[in-house]
Amino acid sequence: KHIHPLAAWYTPEIKDRNARILQRPKALTISNLHKTFEHKGKKINVLNSIDFTAYKREFVCVVGPSGCGKSTLARLIAGLETHEVGAIHIDDDLVDGPGPDRGMVFQSYSLFPWMTVKQNVMFGLTESGMSKNSAEAEAFQWIDLVGLEKFANAYPHQLSGGMKQRVAIIRALANQPKILLMDEPFAALDPQNRLKMQRYLLEIWQNIDITIFFITHDLDEAIYLADRILILEANPGRVQETLSVPLPRPRKEETLLSPEFFA
Ligand code: ADP
Ligand code: MG
Repeated sequence: KHIHPLAAWYTPEIKDRNARILQRPKALTISNLHKTFEHKGKKINVLNSIDFTAYKREFVCVVGPSGCGKSTLARLIAGLETHEVGAIHIDDDLVDGPGPDRGMVFQSYSLFPWMTVKQNVMFGLTESGMSKNSAEAEAFQWIDLVGLEKFANAYPHQLSGGMKQRVAIIRALANQPKILLMDEPFAALDPQNRLKMQRYLLEIWQNIDITIFFITHDLDEAIYLADRILILEANPGRVQETLSVPLPRPRKEETLLSPEFFA
């Protein structure tokens, strides 16, 4: 009989925790989603009847082979792409184009190179009508949170990869999205900086009310970060399985690494 390799980890406490997550309100509902691209007159079926629900404050990681449609799925949720069949809801709202309820972070940072750290974080706030003074105060709080006080007036090219990614994350969070979509955000970082960023992200996630949809091709990263892992398979992309992660999450006060490591 097939026994799942993680079965031994599913203690009663873990089953209980998972059951509690599934009782929370739905944050993201993907129903019977199909996506086809046209390429040189040929139709390529990229995503095929995807069904998935993420619950409030859940940390979901999506893994799967290259080309299985992970980025396409994130772009569909972001409303940057359209699909033929199915529906995506954020809470009870049907996704029909981009909106402030979804924040997005890419591997390539996508910061505005001509703006300082502070201006990058302030941008979305002033765009949505906040006064310059309030936006500045708000931006400084976020900048403090990720330890970039000294770099508030620096430009992106003056920052390390990890720093740029911290700015990209707080810029997305400053607009108070309900869900944060992250497409392989740490893939370009060296292992040490990747670990730092994973710790930062967990800490931020533990302190604010947000659901995270995090794409990675690194299963270890998914196991470290996620409450639940959505595993996609390729050609066409479908859900292979969803896996609750039984590892206890590192607690806030628990310091695996010295504070200097984060300086
Ligand atoms: P992943 O992020 O899992 O590596 P993607 O979502 O980027 O996969 O791509 C899934 C498939 O869809 C790939 O075969 C890719 O070539 C194709 N694809 C993605 N975007 C487009 C597009 N704009 N036009 C045509 N094909 C595309
Ligand atoms: Mg991708």
